[in-house]
Amino acid sequence: MREREIEALARIHHNHPLRHARILLADAVDIDPNSYLDTDMEVSLVHELLHLRFLDATNGSLKDASPEWRGMEAAVEATAQALVAINNEREARG
Ligand SMILES: [Zn+2]
Repeated sequence: MREREIEALARIHHNHPLRHARILLADAVDIDPNSYLDTDMEVSLVHELLHLRFLDATNGSLKDASPEWRGMEAAVEATAQALVAINNEREARG
């Protein structure tokens, strides 16, 4: 049994006024293969990078778990998945 369940593949800690951020990525060996988490690390990294742009748009003012925050999360995730899919298609075509 694992000591600690990983809740997310990536996290961002940011200081909006200072325009400073640190993105933490989970180590692949710590991810339970049966986890509900999507294990696409590329999407996770792009997702966290997109948060920086969305922070600019919201001035970093959204409260966690608010309807606005959940909407932002859905938009960030959909955009991250689309960008990675476009890039993967481009790479597959050569
Ligand atoms: Zn997010």
